Amino acid sequence: MAGYQLSMSTTNTFSPASIPFEVAKIGLPKKSKVIVVGAGAFGGWSALYLLRSGFQVTLIDAWGPGNSLSTSGDETRVIRSTYGANEFYFNLNVRALELWKEHQQQWKKQIFFNTGVLWFCYQEKNPIVDDSIPFARKHKMDYEFLSTSDLNKKYSSINTSDIHHAWLDPYGGYLKARESCQLVNETFIREGGNYIQAFAKPGQMASGKLLNLQLSTGQKQSSDAYLFACGSWLGQLFPEILGRKITCTKQEVYYFGVPGQQGSVYDRMPVWIDLDGQDHYYGIPGNNHRGFKIGVDIRGEIFDPTNGDRTYNPETLSKARKFIGHRFPELKNAPLVESRVCHYENSPDGNFIFEQHPIAENTWLLGGGSGHGFKHGPALGELVARAFLG
Ligand SMILES: Cc1cc2nc3c(=O)[nH]c(=O)nc-3n(C[C@H](O)[C@H](O)[C@H](O)COP(=O)(O)OP(=O)(O)OC[C@H]3O[C@@H](n4cnc5c(N)ncnc54)[C@H](O)[C@@H]3O)c2cc1C
Repeated sequence: MAGYQLSMSTTNTFSPASIPFEVAKIGLPKKSKVIVVGAGAFGGWSALYLLRSGFQVTLIDAWGPGNSLSTSGDETRVIRSTYGANEFYFNLNVRALELWKEHQQQWKKQIFFNTGVLWFCYQEKNPIVDDSIPFARKHKMDYEFLSTSDLNKKYSSINTSDIHHAWLDPYGGYLKARESCQLVNETFIREGGNYIQAFAKPGQMASGKLLNLQLSTGQKQSSDAYLFACGSWLGQLFPEILGRKITCTKQEVYYFGVPGQQGSVYDRMPVWIDLDGQDHYYGIPGNNHRGFKIGVDIRGEIFDPTNGDRTYNPETLSKARKFIGHRFPELKNAPLVESRVCHYENSPDGNFIFEQHPIAENTWLLGGGSGHGFKHGPALGELVARAFLG
């Protein structure tokens, strides 16, 4: 496989020491018209919160909310607060968790599965987890230390021979991904938002402003402000601005069948993250009954999100299978029931991007989820709406 590795650490170990956190004050008058392009986790939630903040919002998506080409279109996504010493993302996750819980009550549908997140640590010290412990304490969301004998007692299916210890974050778990994008979109429409399915491109520009969007339906749409939340497509839509900033890489996940007698045991297991420092495997055992999901977090080859080949790389699968057999010996010969090829929309340092277009002052760009953005959707949408309100 032609490997592409960002210089930053990878998703599950993502923890830059600090980020320059400033939310722009856009200060758009209430009732202004805003068009959001992209109904994934970033655009869908932003559109909903912009609407709730009093703007007239139109949301446009080429293939529909939570579609299979999009990054938000997988079955499930992990939700965890652990970000090493990075308190910003820890706090963003805490807020997102509150909002996910609030919305699933509203929707009367379980979207958040509080299975916990288990971190397999190979060494005594693991900054990605250790440095988040004070934040967890501050929020009264303490992690639980598990020695290998605790692990063996609690989860007999795990081979702990090469693990030093584990931390269990009992407040994390997983979210239903594509289904929640659709629910957000339904809520947006129910609360008065306008949704259009079409491919949108920036249209004419004059006096430092974008005047309209050109839609694949032949229509033009104009607005006071525009927010492009097009995930991996941002680089293609704005090649001069984001072409080199957003790098789309091929990522693979596999769903394995578990033995029938053990189905409910695996469904109750926590999400796990393996800190071996090399392949960065993680898994969602219950995964909405779609099979024992394992993801490979190391960055894959550069990928075209529209036309890229969505079949898995046999070499990557074979390595993942070997790892599964090692860590969960019962699953050594587990059948592959499904696989998915998705893509990370990597920013240069793994931080999210929310920036004004350098020429069109009424246009904003939101993206760079970099393999960890989904869970933050509601909190990020809320922040974006606050910025628009000023
Ligand atoms: C394998 C994998 C595992 C991941 N695991 C996790 C995890 O466990 N936890 C986590 O929090 N995050 C995770 N992520 C990251 C997370 O899924 C993404 O950061 C997040 O979904 C990005 O959302 P988005 O809205 O920016 O992009 P997308 O979901 O891709 O949405 C962009 C939308 O824009 C639309 N669009 C694009 N161009 C146009 C256009 N020109 N006109 C109209 N519409 C357009 C697309 O149809 C799409 O719906 C993972 C990602 C991958 C690939």
